[in-house]
Amino acid sequence: MASRAAIVTQDTYRELDAERRELTATDADTLQTQIDVARIPAPTGDETARGRWMGERLRAIGLATRTDDAGNVIARMAGSAAGAPVVVCAHLDTVFPAETVLDIQRDGDRITGPGICDNGRGIAAMIAVARVMQQRSATLKRPVDFVGTTGEEGAGDLRGARHYFANSPPPYAVIAIDNTGDERIVNSALGSRRFRVEYRGPGGHSWAAYGVVNPVHAVARAADAVAGLRLPRGTASTVTVSRIGGGHSVNSIPEHAWLEVDARSTSETALVQMEREIREIAEAAARQEIERQTRGTAALTWQCDRIGFRPGGETPADSALVSVALEATRLVGRTPLLATASTDANAAIAIGAPAIAIGGGGRGGDTHTSREWFENERGADGVARALTIIASMAMLS
Ligand SMILES: [Zn+2]
Repeated sequence: MASRAAIVTQDTYRELDAERRELTATDADTLQTQIDVARIPAPTGDETARGRWMGERLRAIGLATRTDDAGNVIARMAGSAAGAPVVVCAHLDTVFPAETVLDIQRDGDRITGPGICDNGRGIAAMIAVARVMQQRSATLKRPVDFVGTTGEEGAGDLRGARHYFANSPPPYAVIAIDNTGDERIVNSALGSRRFRVEYRGPGGHSWAAYGVVNPVHAVARAADAVAGLRLPRGTASTVTVSRIGGGHSVNSIPEHAWLEVDARSTSETALVQMEREIREIAEAAARQEIERQTRGTAALTWQCDRIGFRPGGETPADSALVSVALEATRLVGRTPLLATASTDANAAIAIGAPAIAIGGGGRGGDTHTSREWFENERGADGVARALTIIASMAMLS
């Protein structure tokens, strides 16, 4: 028997026939929006120009917008009833530094250039969905918030989404539109904790001063212990020593050495456990080095700083939101696939809200490179899938 969520999705899909035709008729406009947005620089931490552009586009379709303290651009579409909103978000930022030439080229069916998919496609799909929903005569029950978020990529650590969810009433459901595709449903949020461990000592001549504490030896002990760490059982978790450095020359005891560690998991409990163990390892490596030092010489000092934080977690496969997304994917003729990734949905899952991330349609590749490419294969169907999920959630109570 079909679940209530699946039945609401089927009904909503049927009611959205005119909107789907509109999306197909305006497919070329969506593509042009995608190209236009990819041409506006938006490195993580400097999304103002792109945010302003998005605000103009949302106002042009009749929505009022505001910008919050984190630079997120927000537009609310009222529902017929009050209640917790459905939040749709698309990140504004890209991994490309400000000086990157945003050369977007079209060659037949293929469009190539930095950020054309991630997140040019997500932003274009969100605007297309907002436009047809705003034109819709039948009102939805719940309000829908459209949010262009800042700081999603890399060291941004989901800054915009985390700020938004920390300062808004709890949402009913969150749908992040990120990159391309029309089959994947990211319901498992890959979290991370990143650390930089540093050791400092007096340094000295490698022969004459031998016996003073050696920061490189401490780093090596720590790296060995992290590499041998037993991962939390029954979870999908990884830990990697990803960078290491220190020392000045082959005949000196170094004054300074460091390593960086990237721990990842879909389980927040596992991340907490790994953080505790990495901090213990950092301290134990220092103690082992201190035990070997010559009496009366200067001490080894150390510190372990967290340099990255993304919460992990999961929206259950049998939740209403995932059921709606599965059904909507089938309704547009595609095969749904549950997946794991790190997206703005992580920030929502961390506050206990049901959240998923989906693609904005079409297909692409070479993401995070200057060769990033997009092909508009069934692109309008991908946008229709996003519309079906968002509208169905806005109809549920
Ligand atoms: Zn992205």
